[in-house]
Amino acid sequence: MNMSGKSGAGRWHWLSGGRQRRQEEIILMLLCALSIPSILPFGVYRLLQGSWASAVVDMLLVAGMTAVIVHVWRTGRYQVASLLVTIFYSVGMLVTVYLRGVSLVYWVYPTMIAAYFVLRPAVAVAINSVGLLVLVGILTMQLEVVNLMTIVVTIGLVNLFAYIFAYRTGLQNKELHTAVELDFLTGVGNRRALDRKLSEYAQERRPQLESSLLLLDLDHFKQVNDQYGHAAGDKVLVRLAELMRRHTRSSDRIFRYGGEEFAIMASGAGLNAAAVLAEGLRSAVASATLLEGHPITISIGVAYMNKARTPDDWLAAADKMLYAAKQGGRNAVRVAEDSIA
Ligand code: GH3
Ligand code: MG
Ligand code: MG
Repeated sequence: MNMSGKSGAGRWHWLSGGRQRRQEEIILMLLCALSIPSILPFGVYRLLQGSWASAVVDMLLVAGMTAVIVHVWRTGRYQVASLLVTIFYSVGMLVTVYLRGVSLVYWVYPTMIAAYFVLRPAVAVAINSVGLLVLVGILTMQLEVVNLMTIVVTIGLVNLFAYIFAYRTGLQNKELHTAVELDFLTGVGNRRALDRKLSEYAQERRPQLESSLLLLDLDHFKQVNDQYGHAAGDKVLVRLAELMRRHTRSSDRIFRYGGEEFAIMASGAGLNAAAVLAEGLRSAVASATLLEGHPITISIGVAYMNKARTPDDWLAAADKMLYAAKQGGRNAVRVAEDSIA
């Protein structure tokens, strides 16, 4: 397996601390790190002033943030930490407003926006809504209705804008992620997608459906290009991908992992089912007209995705069978019977 499979979107290499980290981990650690110099001076100032309760809240926030940084740095686990940090912050902020009055309400705005950086938009908006309700409860006693309404409306707007922004960014990320893993010509997955799918399957801990891997290669395809031109060759590839879609189940994943080489990850297929699928594909291609006036055939190698082995082993086993199918005269299927053991 090449390295590109491991360096997918959402991972940054810098600040890695010796291993790959997800973007979410780094954002959470950065937010926590930023919050320390933002709060610590105030904590010290209140300590000097003798405002013990406020100082304790500030110091607790600083200690909490430090603990989160250490935890995420060590374990890489950020999801629960993100939720806890947001709740911790929201409570800390509300207590501060309660203790020190409405002048501290400015802190509510950055705190609420920060929630959208580390949580899903829906979760962030839910937590902030509860926070706003509590804030109204705290401030009702202290403020005139007009002033209270100003705070509620501005906080509401800040949340609305942050929500829309976060939601839209999430959507764009998803689209980008899909586009990066798509083969431009045929619309099936590309090599990057294949690498990711294989390593995901390898890393699944829970007992899952068994799967098999098919590697397909067009027979004498160079001749097609030489005789009919590259554009005609490309059209064959597009038609072949369409045929593969029609002859596979929706749970089967199709990839173009080389110029005229395709792979299918057949989920829920043991070696026998995969052999039947491969033979069906081979004969469908042989009897279809992918190029007018020129017979097109494919050779297929099939291997079982044995969890005791690695993606590299599955690819090597299927590739060996593909080679055997070519050696045997092409337009053939060969199955790695030993890959299941
Ligand atoms: P074999 O039966 O041994 O596979 O013979 P082959 O001619 O198909 O050889 P090979 O598998 O090495 O095929 C490589 C050829 O595939 C080279 C090139 O002409 C063609 N090819 C690779 N990528 C593309 C592509 O994106 N478009 C087109 N039209 N042709 C491609
Ligand atoms: Mg080839
Ligand atoms: Mg070929």
